[in-house]
Amino acid sequence: MKAVVSSVRARAVQVAASVLVLASSGEAAAAEPPIFGLAIAIARDEKGERVVDDAWVERQIDDANGFFAPLGTRFRWTIEKELAEPHGELHARADRDALTPLTETNVIDVFVVRALEDVDEPGRYRMGVCWTGRGGKRFIVVARTARPTVLAHELGHFFGNRQHSTVVNNLMSYTRDGGTVFLDARQIATIQRSTRSFLETGRLVDVGPPRRVR
Ligand SMILES: [Zn+2]
Repeated sequence: MKAVVSSVRARAVQVAASVLVLASSGEAAAAEPPIFGLAIAIARDEKGERVVDDAWVERQIDDANGFFAPLGTRFRWTIEKELAEPHGELHARADRDALTPLTETNVIDVFVVRALEDVDEPGRYRMGVCWTGRGGKRFIVVARTARPTVLAHELGHFFGNRQHSTVVNNLMSYTRDGGTVFLDARQIATIQRSTRSFLETGRLVDVGPPRRVR
């Protein structure tokens, strides 16, 4: 009798295991595009308030997803941090490099600052930059003055598009005339190649959709 019970149990386990296999192969067949985590560090303003609010950040992320999601690359805000002084304003190269120790692993770090001065043209202020810090660690800096497509533009750099375009309304150009902003075929191929490479090397991981833990 004991032997029968254990064989019934074993079978139950087997059935459960095959259901699990089916469930996971079903998910694989759907092939949801990866979602990459964003670690957002936000500086404080002169009054001690965050330089941007959640809605500002979400708008930048939504805008980036508008360009990247159709290409098979998505983003989600997974880590929020305060960016402490003296990192709230970046002027020299050393100020940018000093952010490297503040970066996380397996996600894309975005630092939102009060001011971002150009390191090649002092006195000129930028809305964003994709910077390679010490040890080759890449991260993004966005100024509080950034217009909505800035994070998407810097992610374009992060995903391998190093050059700027001179074509009006190209996401990787500086010029806009109010028309639809777009990426060209070569830029799209670069982003898709980088997405595969980031996943293969483990530089980024697929964090998946948000999960509710009860
Ligand atoms: Zn750029």
